Amino acid sequence: MSKKVLIIGSGLGSLATALRLTKHGYQVEIVEKHHQAGGRLNQLKKDGFTFDVGPSFFSMSYEFTELFEYCNIPNPLQMNELNPVYTVYFADKKDPYFIYKELDKLAQEFSKIEENFEEKAKKYLKKAAEIFHDTEHVIIKRNYDNLFQYAVSLATVPMKHSPLLVRSMWTQLERHFDSNDVKVIFSLVAFFLGSTPFDTPAVYSLLNYTELQHDGYWNIKGGMYKIVEEIQKILINRDVKFHFNTEIVDIKTSEKNIDYFVDQNGKQWNADIYVCNSDAAAFRGQILKRKKFSKPKLDKKHWTLAPFTIYLGVKGKVKNLHHHNYFLGTNFKEYADNIFKLSVNPEKPYYYVNVSSKSNEECAPEGCENIFILCPVPDRRYKHDWSDREELAANILKDLSKRIDFDLIENTVSKTIYAPDDWEKMFNLYQGSGLGLAHGLNQVAAMRPKNKDEKLDNLYYVGASTIPGTGLPIVVIGSKLVTERILEDGKR
Ligand SMILES: Cc1cc2nc3c(=O)[nH]c(=O)nc-3n(C[C@H](O)[C@H](O)[C@H](O)COP(=O)(O)OP(=O)(O)OC[C@H]3O[C@@H](n4cnc5c(N)ncnc54)[C@H](O)[C@@H]3O)c2cc1C
Repeated sequence: MSKKVLIIGSGLGSLATALRLTKHGYQVEIVEKHHQAGGRLNQLKKDGFTFDVGPSFFSMSYEFTELFEYCNIPNPLQMNELNPVYTVYFADKKDPYFIYKELDKLAQEFSKIEENFEEKAKKYLKKAAEIFHDTEHVIIKRNYDNLFQYAVSLATVPMKHSPLLVRSMWTQLERHFDSNDVKVIFSLVAFFLGSTPFDTPAVYSLLNYTELQHDGYWNIKGGMYKIVEEIQKILINRDVKFHFNTEIVDIKTSEKNIDYFVDQNGKQWNADIYVCNSDAAAFRGQILKRKKFSKPKLDKKHWTLAPFTIYLGVKGKVKNLHHHNYFLGTNFKEYADNIFKLSVNPEKPYYYVNVSSKSNEECAPEGCENIFILCPVPDRRYKHDWSDREELAANILKDLSKRIDFDLIENTVSKTIYAPDDWEKMFNLYQGSGLGLAHGLNQVAAMRPKNKDEKLDNLYYVGASTIPGTGLPIVVIGSKLVTERILEDGKR
């Protein structure tokens, strides 16, 4: 008889794990608190517009290719590479910088602000490439049973990289570039990790290599939610059962095993094996009641910024917006120093804008555009009350309208706002943190919550806050690591 697996949550980590486990003959059932699958990779349909709720692009596209190859399925996703990878607008400049993958074209963009950019960038990216390739397999893509194994893996990384552990990303950029704009643009990746470039170790310059040289950034024809729809279709064909509006709130265990989980209506859910796709740190605290993950301990951890998102349907075509755009101010250091701990709305918000109708016309009615705005804000430990969400949205829309010379407020036909409290409620994101646990050196690899439970033999984890970490391709790697664990344990 095939073993039954219950997965709690239907985010990408869950769907990818279900795909792999069904290949090995496991019978999978998924319970999800939201009304549809995908977790943060979700979709909002409103007033004739279709929005991707969270992610809008990804790096390491080959992880999706690997997932489908592993399962012997033709890749159902049409992946499009982005070039320019994104566009950056500074508040004190009229024209944006287009961030091209080709360094000679990028050098043209920076020709007025950075002499010999191409040569400098090659040197900077060469180092970043080395650290990426020297750590990808030995540190990132592997399971750890204990800290000793981690120490042994670290010892295999060439010593020449050790200065990058103590130097900050900003210092590394200062050693290579003169222009402030170039340094700011290259340092934006630090915020995805849950930190600022001033306190992120320079090893993470590897992300500049992944975005600019290695595999670049990609999105999906038809919108990002196609990833969920396509995987879900395959899973349904394989008899995987989805149960929506079902939240796990309690557990019953005997010794080292789980007897069953309990949902909000008191229904019991049992299986041979359980995989938790809910936040791996918060779940251990809130459902398993582990002291190491009590609220005060969770609050002391480093979390990534929370999302403040606006989904705007507008009449008219907005010619000064491209597909992926960053809007930055002129006070970068002050912004970075304050944004994680602000207890009020940022006065001069920095934000990201995505217009997927630029490449997927079906996402907006004719002659209209669907605009997604993501403004990273402090999580709810610092700003708990978001009843002033309309004020921040109005501030952003006023600023953006001015910068793109298009009256977004006047032309709005549909508007939805999700503040950090909505994100927390929708997907159980701890304190509304958007990407989960941060990636400082004390919260990665063997130092991150493990993908196999410390006490319960039949409980595993997959998703942003367990290993290897957050981001779409990274949770796909996580699905491979947890599958390996389950298969290995199954042999014992
Ligand atoms: C606004 C935003 C933009 C982003 N942009 C990008 C991007 O451009 N590129 C990129 O690579 N990454 C991006 N990310 C990060 C990316 O979305 C995540 O890293 C990834 O989707 C996490 O997947 P996961 O497997 O951890 O599942 P999650 O998305 O966390 O899904 C977990 C699921 O579990 C459910 N759940 C939780 N608790 C329970 C429970 N007790 N019972 C039942 N169900 C439960 C939740 O409702 C949810 O559906 C973004 C994230 C956000 C928030």
